[in-house]
Amino acid sequence: MLNDAYHRSIDYLRISITDRCNLRCVYCMPEEGVSACPHDDILRYEEIERVARAAAALGVRKLRLTGGEPLVRLGVVDLVRVLAHIPGIEDIAMTTNGMLLAQYAAPLAEAGLMRVNVSLDTLQPERFRAITRRGDLNAVLTGIDAAFAAGLEPVKINTVVMRGQNDDEVVDLARKTLDAPWHVRFIEWMPVGEAARDWRARVVTSAELRARIEAALGALTPAEVDGAGPARIYQLPGALGTLGFIGAVSEHFCAQCNRLRLTADGKLRPCLLATNELDLRAALRGGASEADIQALLLEAARLKPQGHQLAEYAQVQGRAMAQIGG
Ligand code: SAM
Ligand code: SF4
Repeated sequence: MLNDAYHRSIDYLRISITDRCNLRCVYCMPEEGVSACPHDDILRYEEIERVARAAAALGVRKLRLTGGEPLVRLGVVDLVRVLAHIPGIEDIAMTTNGMLLAQYAAPLAEAGLMRVNVSLDTLQPERFRAITRRGDLNAVLTGIDAAFAAGLEPVKINTVVMRGQNDDEVVDLARKTLDAPWHVRFIEWMPVGEAARDWRARVVTSAELRARIEAALGALTPAEVDGAGPARIYQLPGALGTLGFIGAVSEHFCAQCNRLRLTADGKLRPCLLATNELDLRAALRGGASEADIQALLLEAARLKPQGHQLAEYAQVQGRAMAQIGG
């Protein structure tokens, strides 16, 4: 079984299936994009399947597909179908920007995807275009409707909050949970890649967000939602949905971390914020057996750090979030 050096058991693998994206969110990528890996360097679907099978045999129960934008990779529905049928996998989800979800929600659900997280930082069309540098809010809202229609629930909405950019909308976003079963999760902006420059001045902590929402909409009571992960979940009085707060920096949840990450170019990453990656692709293409793959998974678990020190360093060097798989 996958245990780390700090008695955490690892049952969750996040798989980035591409480093490419159809958006350029200001906190994630530079305007010109990041230089995408050559196609040959990206894991083939058969290779991802081999890793997922090896991980499932070691006790991994949950998979999440991410990126880059997972829906821009051709054949993603077939990949979901294969992964969803691996013995031992109980939960398979996806994090998407939602731009292509209207066309993909039903086929994904039919293939076995269980739920989606859709990233949405604003409810204002022009602001949406400014934050994503090219997105269409209407396409995402239609995609969210399609996710509900396809039963990809609970549908979680991931909102990264930046002071001066969208923090004036947190109450409006919270209000969406009152009459629709939206599970809005406010993610503390992390100083990764593009974000790092003026991060300290513009990060809004989860504690501040909770206070602002309570002042406007009433007391938050603790609640639950399936697959909450690191989010602290609350509910407004009478709400159909919930509010989650992911204080990645100020309330970090390293002690409960249960995940490993696989980057699109086949590196096993013990932690989102650590750079000590293991080269799984070289092993896969060098004739590795299932036992060899498992040995690398066990090693990655062993290398998981006890926690991160983002708050101290306020800057993470290296890959952009889209290259790691946020
Ligand atoms: N393209 C997909 C999407 O946007 O949902 C999946 C990949 S994206 C890197 C995954 C998540 O990471 C998104 O919810 C995004 O908002 C979040 N993210 C990206 N950069 C971030 C940052 N600097 N701090 C906090 N969250 C970030
Ligand atoms: Fe693309 Fe997601 Fe990064 Fe936005 S957050 S640029 S949608 S990978």
